[in-house]
Amino acid sequence: KKINIAVDGLSSCGKSTLAKDLAKKIGYTYIDSGAMYRAVALYALRSGWVTEDDIDKEALKQHIPEIRITFRTNEQGQQETYLNGENVEKEIRSLEVGNAASRISTLDFVRREMVRQQQEMGKEKGVVMDGRDIGTVVFPDAELKIFLTASPETRALRRFNELKEKGEEITYEEVLANIKERDERDSNRSQSPVRKADDAIELDNSNLTVEEQLQWAIDMFNK
Ligand code: C5P
Repeated sequence: KKINIAVDGLSSCGKSTLAKDLAKKIGYTYIDSGAMYRAVALYALRSGWVTEDDIDKEALKQHIPEIRITFRTNEQGQQETYLNGENVEKEIRSLEVGNAASRISTLDFVRREMVRQQQEMGKEKGVVMDGRDIGTVVFPDAELKIFLTASPETRALRRFNELKEKGEEITYEEVLANIKERDERDSNRSQSPVRKADDAIELDNSNLTVEEQLQWAIDMFNK
């Protein structure tokens, strides 16, 4: 069967791991919608439109049609993000870009453009997309919607380990504060705040292994 699958949840709840593994297992295309917001944020940072305490909304709005985001699979079979043809996969994973992404994703014109591109990518079906608003806005008709949750502490520990591996100098306490700040922004923004779609199935994965979650998702898919 060929359907679209939405995987939503807050920062670092394990969405991308589950969505990626599930897509691989069932032969679907995985799309990381967060990477698209991150790529726009990187473009805006490089152009100087996002600074510590300000966003040049006019400039960003005017130039957004110039930003082309695509995905390609590398030799190891991992998906990488391209910004106007440049591989930016590594660069978009930094804390700085993540924070800028969280801020620019509150802008309605940014979301409109991203949603348009994401819907285009899902037209043929057979897509597993992870994000914040996939089940509610991007694919409201998705036949399978998963909403992942985990405690802020669990998510902070996961993010902390990831960032440390990348060599970022940061403490667990700082990561936890950062996660809570992002939760606050993602949950309370006026444009598509994170919420579980009425027809989504919720899974708290705080105490589940990656394998257990995948098996659960496969069972849901086969139902
Ligand atoms: O998931 P990830 O942390 O890579 O996403 C980066 C940022 O993009 C998030 O902090 C969130 O604010 C935003 N985002 C969004 N809607 C999505 C995916 C991500 O607003 N569908």
